[in-house]
Amino acid sequence: MLLLVQTGHGRSNSIASLESFRNMRTSCRRTESSYGWIFETWLTAMDSRLPFSLTTDEGKGIAAAVAKVFPQCFHRLCRWRILSRCKKRLTDARTRFPGLHEELKRCVNGCDTAVIFDMLWGSILDKYGLRDDNWLQSLYEIRHKWVPAYLTSFFFAELSLTHRVETVSKFYRNNFSSRVSLNTFISRFDQYIDGLYASEAQKDITSFSPEQFLKTDMVLEKQARSIYTRAAFETFQLELVEAMQHYAVKVQDGSYMKYYVERNGDPPTRHTVFYNVAEKKAWCECCRFAFSAILCRHVLSVFLLAGVIMLPEPCITKRWTKKAKSGPELIGLNVGNGSSSPDSVASRYNDLVRDAIKCAEKGTVSAGAFRVAKEVLRKAFMDIRGHGEKLCKDALRSASSR
Ligand SMILES: [Zn+2]
Repeated sequence: MLLLVQTGHGRSNSIASLESFRNMRTSCRRTESSYGWIFETWLTAMDSRLPFSLTTDEGKGIAAAVAKVFPQCFHRLCRWRILSRCKKRLTDARTRFPGLHEELKRCVNGCDTAVIFDMLWGSILDKYGLRDDNWLQSLYEIRHKWVPAYLTSFFFAELSLTHRVETVSKFYRNNFSSRVSLNTFISRFDQYIDGLYASEAQKDITSFSPEQFLKTDMVLEKQARSIYTRAAFETFQLELVEAMQHYAVKVQDGSYMKYYVERNGDPPTRHTVFYNVAEKKAWCECCRFAFSAILCRHVLSVFLLAGVIMLPEPCITKRWTKKAKSGPELIGLNVGNGSSSPDSVASRYNDLVRDAIKCAEKGTVSAGAFRVAKEVLRKAFMDIRGHGEKLCKDALRSASSR
């Protein structure tokens, strides 16, 4: 069983595809070609739109397939899966040192920079006498593939997505077994996916949330609430509230002004921020913005000091805004990848197929939606056929009058 999960603009996940590999389960052969076939099939279904980044479980087969099918995409390993595996692989050490797993989690999840991660990781290994543990050594050697402090230059749609992947995995564990028939599983899975879509729709509705969600009287917060989806806004809000606990000091003037930002004035928490007023851009050494596309508390702290009351345009990533979903619905032409003219038969065909798929996706959510979709499509078909017949009659009339 392979679940392909994609992140939507509400920072929630949806299941992009689900495939069952009976042969893979029985033969236990999860090969590069098996994964390659799945990825290529998924890519076709996604109209050849490549993902920015991809998070998978460990494995040589899957890594080779990713490199082959998604050569431009940055591939990382699922941190949640690795940390979960720590519980099993370090059973003896965990029995002797109950706090070990929590310390490892804090080290992996809490370090902003590679330098701090290296120091903390080393100190934990020394503290618990785990320097010679081969598995931990192998994890450290591939740290650039899964440790957030080493992944700050790549956009991964925020790491909290792993919690939602955990939810999907939990569903799979509870429902995919020899006691559940494939038909039953697919039926349950459909219901589960419907629930996820309904939840996302509900979040969209509650994105237009009332005043009580504001925690400050700052224009920054009001602006963020008006443009971001609820989930993205809540993350921004957390960073903004944290920013108020930080103190920024300008240490260098110029076109790129340099600031030191410390939490409660505590030097070990110092982060360096550069702010270019002319370009309205800011960079923080924690690189959270590059990683999650939400401004970090350090940059926001600088904005508070510098009197920036509105989020500058370059600091707003459309992906997390309410407008992200207002892309082409059933109006406008989907030109695709530009390889064919929008007036060509192939382009028009592809455009209509995309619209038909959208109708099918939305129209199967409930019996009511299905009835609406059927009626609209029936009428659309009649109108299109009527248009064609009128063209034929006009052509015949024109020919007979010559
Ligand atoms: Zn930062």
